[in-house]
Amino acid sequence: MTLLLLAGTGLAQDIARRLDDRKTDVIVSLAGGSRTAAAAGGHEVRIGGFGGDAGFCAYLAERGVSAVLDATHPFAARISDRSARICAELGLPYALAQRPPWVPQAGDLWQMVEREEEAARHIAPGSTVFLATGRQTLERFANLGACQLICRQIDPPDRAFPFENGRFLVGTPPFSVTQERELFAELKVDWLVVKNAGGAASATKLTAARELGVQVAMIERPALPDAPVMRSAEEALDWVAVL
Ligand code: NAP
Repeated sequence: MTLLLLAGTGLAQDIARRLDDRKTDVIVSLAGGSRTAAAAGGHEVRIGGFGGDAGFCAYLAERGVSAVLDATHPFAARISDRSARICAELGLPYALAQRPPWVPQAGDLWQMVEREEEAARHIAPGSTVFLATGRQTLERFANLGACQLICRQIDPPDRAFPFENGRFLVGTPPFSVTQERELFAELKVDWLVVKNAGGAASATKLTAARELGVQVAMIERPALPDAPVMRSAEEALDWVAVL
């Protein structure tokens, strides 16, 4: 059996580390960017897009893939929608692996928003806004022109900040609650903008925000494709075990 693990998250890395090559041939697929072959847990790794629907179908056939476990980010909707659809067409077992979304706790000051652009409805002009949303979607915050924007990213910036009212901040996760609290206090952050990725490792910023009374614009997850969803590495490994 050959399992294709679509990766690019901490959960995918966790699953990769725990998959046993003696039982299943595993290929770990990464889109590229900051997560490297080290994220593949010693399995075969391929890096880069497949080249659209046709490229993905060709790859599945060429490598004799018998099942696809999709542990990409909950906001990587294009790869998940496409993979779910093509696996259904081909009759290949397919499951998603995603941590449960975060839910607000007592003391949280959250505004749920469906899209990045909606954050501007809640954030007052003059606010200092910490964007923990990555650089790919930065253009969607063009309507926050009256705020100071700080966008954290892992890799050193390869381009200028797209707006005059902001800057990049380079940081390599994981960040502890103390580190996040000190950073938000030092930067005098009024608002944190976050994608609801779920998982404990990156929830530290939410704890820090709660402790400091920082408001949070929480971007809700896109709709899931019609497929089984595994909520932990254990559930995902159980799914693989009965293939
Ligand atoms: P996306 O919009 O759903 O996918 C765009 C294209 O990237 C896909 O059509 C595919 O290209 C390629 N791709 C995505 N994941 C891939 C994988 N694991 N292996 C091979 N090709 C892949 O995805 P995205 O939001 O740009 O995210 C890209 C990657 O970064 C994902 O693997 C995701 O897990 C990770 N990531 C995303 C976020 C986020 O907020 N979106 C956050 C953290 C990590 P082809 O059509 O050419 O096959």
